[in-house]
Amino acid sequence: MMEFGFSLSPSSAVDLDKVDTSRFDRLVEMEPQARICIGCGSCSATCTAEPYSGMSVRKVLLGLQRGRDAEVDRMLAACMLCGKCTMVCPRGINTRHLILSLCRISGKGKEGKA
Ligand code: SF4
Ligand code: SF4
Repeated sequence: MMEFGFSLSPSSAVDLDKVDTSRFDRLVEMEPQARICIGCGSCSATCTAEPYSGMSVRKVLLGLQRGRDAEVDRMLAACMLCGKCTMVCPRGINTRHLILSLCRISGKGKEGKA
C-alpha cells in the first residue's frame, strides 16, 4: 500500500434514524429538565471527574441522543456525585439528580448516594 504521510480517520457520522434513544426518552420522562440543556459546557468545565475520565453531563446528554452507550456508561461510572455541575448550570438543571436517575434507568447503581 502506498504511503501518503497521512491516514483517513473512520467516519464519525451518526444515522439518527437508526439510533436507539430509548434511554434518553426514559430519562426525559423522569427528568424533563434533560430537554432544556443548551450545551454550554459549564458542567464540563467544572466537573471533578472530567480531567481523568472525560466525564461531562453535556456529553452524557449528547451521547444518549447519538447512541454512544458505551461512552455514556464509562462517564457515569466516573461521576462522584459531588454536585459541582448542578451549582454552575445556567439553566438550573439538577444535573446531579439527573445522573442518579440515569444510573437507575441504566442499572448502574450509585445507591446510598442520593
Ligand atoms: S451546564 Fe447545564 S445547560 Fe450547560 S451543558 Fe451542562 S447541563 Fe447543559
Ligand atoms: S456530580 Fe459528577 S458530573 Fe457533576 S461535577 Fe461532580 S463528578 Fe462531575
